[in-house]
Amino acid sequence: MTQPSFIVHGGTGSWPQEALLDAEKGVREACAAGWKVLEADGSALDAVEAAVRVMEDAPCFDAGRGSYANKLGEVEMDAIIMDGATLNLGAVAAVKGVRHPITLARLVMTRTPHAFIVAEGARMLAEHYGLEMLPTEILLTGDELVYRQRLQVEGLADLHEMFAASAEEASGATGTGDTVGAVARDSRGDIAVATSTGGKKRKLPGRVGDSPLVGSGAYADNEAGGASTTGDGETIMRIVMAKSAVDMMRGGMGVEGAAREAVSHLEARTSGEGGIILIDNQGRVGYAFNTFVMPVAWVDEKGQVQVRVSLG
Ligand code: ASP
Repeated sequence: MTQPSFIVHGGTGSWPQEALLDAEKGVREACAAGWKVLEADGSALDAVEAAVRVMEDAPCFDAGRGSYANKLGEVEMDAIIMDGATLNLGAVAAVKGVRHPITLARLVMTRTPHAFIVAEGARMLAEHYGLEMLPTEILLTGDELVYRQRLQVEGLADLHEMFAASAEEASGATGTGDTVGAVARDSRGDIAVATSTGGKKRKLPGRVGDSPLVGSGAYADNEAGGASTTGDGETIMRIVMAKSAVDMMRGGMGVEGAAREAVSHLEARTSGEGGIILIDNQGRVGYAFNTFVMPVAWVDEKGQVQVRVSLG
């Protein structure tokens, strides 16, 4: 039996000052929920799912309830869960109407012969297994709900206009979100990771970022460690950031060095903004980010939850 380890993040989105207290509370509660599972000798998979479900319910995060609206005022969510013991994984993308996309990703892993199911097929799977569904008006909160309501009154922009405007936008122009993620190592030494997001604000319909892509948004391998990323998906996927960081640890790099190196590489090769949380195969935790804010919570050697929200 080994001492478990746990870390969560709440995304590198453009956090307004007034949301930081909610973010701090949200990552603290999510970390406590995952830790409770690990303390009771539960599995790393159960711990990361429990923590991410808490953040999917907290409207301050861009995942589940609180997701960003796409250009049509719809919510399309992405999630992935990976088991470092077996390298099994389940992922969903561009799925609508599900309260807990991370639980749906786990169903893909455990109840289907597949690894990745998208859009309507993912939604049908959720309905088949009786997962809780929520209308778009509940998934969207605050300004995002106002955006959808305005579209409903004013009518949708002409599709030609939408695609023409999008062609003018630089990569990264639609802003990152407050994606959530968790990495755990349980008392048996098994590592698991989970990442869940509503994606970028005002993305095109059907757009999928790095988050549900194995190796980019998440990776776990008991032999090396686990990683969950957040930030500009179009750049993160170009460096396959989570797997790169896990491979650095496999090569003997320390957990903090690997986190810093992954973010530096993102910045140097793509000018991308992002962050990462890691656990190595000895249970050490690390994180790094190159934005001003990335809420993180982890459990220290004394079993206490520690929280850090920003660089300041
Ligand atoms: N990586 C997410 C995406 O591109 C957004 C984020 O993490 O902030 O969909």
